[in-house]
Amino acid sequence: MTTAAHEIVDFDDAINRYDPVLGLEVHVELNTASKMFCGCSTEFGAEPNTQTCPVCLGLPGSMPVANAKAIESAVRIGLALNCDIAEWCRFSRKNYFYPDMPKNYQISQYDEPIAFDGWIDVDVDGETFRVEIERAHMEEDTGKSTHVGGSTGRIHGADYSLLDYNRCGVPLIEIVTRPIEGAGAKAPEVAKAYVGAIRDLMKALDVSDARMERGNVRCDANVSLRPDPAAEFGTRTETKNVNSLRSVEGAVRHEIMRQAAVLDAGGTVTQETRHWHEDTQSTTAGRPKETAEDYRYFPEPDLVPVAPSRAWVEELRANLPEPPAQRLQRLAGEWGFSDREFGDVVAADAVDLVDETVRAGCAPQAARKWWLSELARRANEAGVAPEDLGVTPAQVAEVQALVDEGLINDKLARQVFDGVLAGEGTPREVVEQRGLVVVSDDGALSAAVDAAIAANPDVAERIRGGRVQAAGALIGAVMKEMKGQADAARVRELILEKLT
Ligand SMILES: [Zn+2]
Repeated sequence: MTTAAHEIVDFDDAINRYDPVLGLEVHVELNTASKMFCGCSTEFGAEPNTQTCPVCLGLPGSMPVANAKAIESAVRIGLALNCDIAEWCRFSRKNYFYPDMPKNYQISQYDEPIAFDGWIDVDVDGETFRVEIERAHMEEDTGKSTHVGGSTGRIHGADYSLLDYNRCGVPLIEIVTRPIEGAGAKAPEVAKAYVGAIRDLMKALDVSDARMERGNVRCDANVSLRPDPAAEFGTRTETKNVNSLRSVEGAVRHEIMRQAAVLDAGGTVTQETRHWHEDTQSTTAGRPKETAEDYRYFPEPDLVPVAPSRAWVEELRANLPEPPAQRLQRLAGEWGFSDREFGDVVAADAVDLVDETVRAGCAPQAARKWWLSELARRANEAGVAPEDLGVTPAQVAEVQALVDEGLINDKLARQVFDGVLAGEGTPREVVEQRGLVVVSDDGALSAAVDAAIAANPDVAERIRGGRVQAAGALIGAVMKEMKGQADAARVRELILEKLT
């Protein structure tokens, strides 16, 4: 019996009848300068096929050499995931044909991963959920195929395909969880929180750019259902290359609802890979899933075993950064934000930006204000992440320093950001060149205040009558007259001096 791809049951109904089990495989692209087994650059965004050599093109007779920095990163990742580090391990060849992998095998690790038996705690709605790590192993990335023509961007229906081997051989760490049981209705959130925690950890370790939209961190989500937690695992599907946190949650949620529909109808779930579609928030069938036997793994004969010395491992352990969850707790305390303010910073993915701005000398509340309002708005309009806007944390701190000095106000600060983004120099240079300095000279201000009083006699009368709060309207008139460059506090004083 088969069910159509679009048949799903309500999520709550699915959870009432079935117990979901997850298995998450996260691929992390390391940020080493060169590839895993050759000296080619890993720089993102280069012209296609300009960063290749005989080794990563798989030409006969070429010999790989393992990247020492990548091995160090692998060990640090393993340690940060509370794993044991292998005293001795080898690379393996994983044999399969794929057009974006010119060797026709991938160098990976099979039964001897560099790190194994770890765990990480993730936070879901304030509740801690421990995810056990089975292994973290080293491998190389494949090239990138672009299928041109056709409506789906996939190979089916395409007119032709383009291959870019620049990514071929870029170092990857694959982190594999043990089966995640007991998450129940929270399974989609647990998956999302786990991938988010891995991403944050990679950033903290500085082993990857950890940009999900660039595919630096991508998740294969295995999902299966069983009638109850005591039953054996059901047949799983693997939704491949999910590359945003929201999509991880959506893919797990959809697979639970889809598999429940298959099982409800008396069908069986097919063991296969699936593709996630952001537009329809659903998955479709890929290829039948191979088992490990299909890959004919064998130890890679061209590479020596990796044997990290215990002294080196302990040295790396001693120099691990503060764990991301602990850092968040510390920053929340140091910044003195309300839970809601801090939550907004986390949700906006602006923790690092605010932190760097504060460390550049800015008050936490001011740093939060700039990154979450003015700069978030500009980034949104430009369609880029705030860190790619072109304004650095140090510049934001400098703008706020100019405000604190009384040289400019918030309104003028926006024009300073305009200037910085237009390449007119540092904030201070923009202020000087554009002549943006706030006027607090009493002569100029006094004349403007007199003009505002003359133009608004009714308002002036109310202030004379004791309604001091009406001064706001006159301050506004003066600011408008002086194009925002008046010292608002001094204007207020002058108005009150003249009228009360
Ligand atoms: Zn190369």
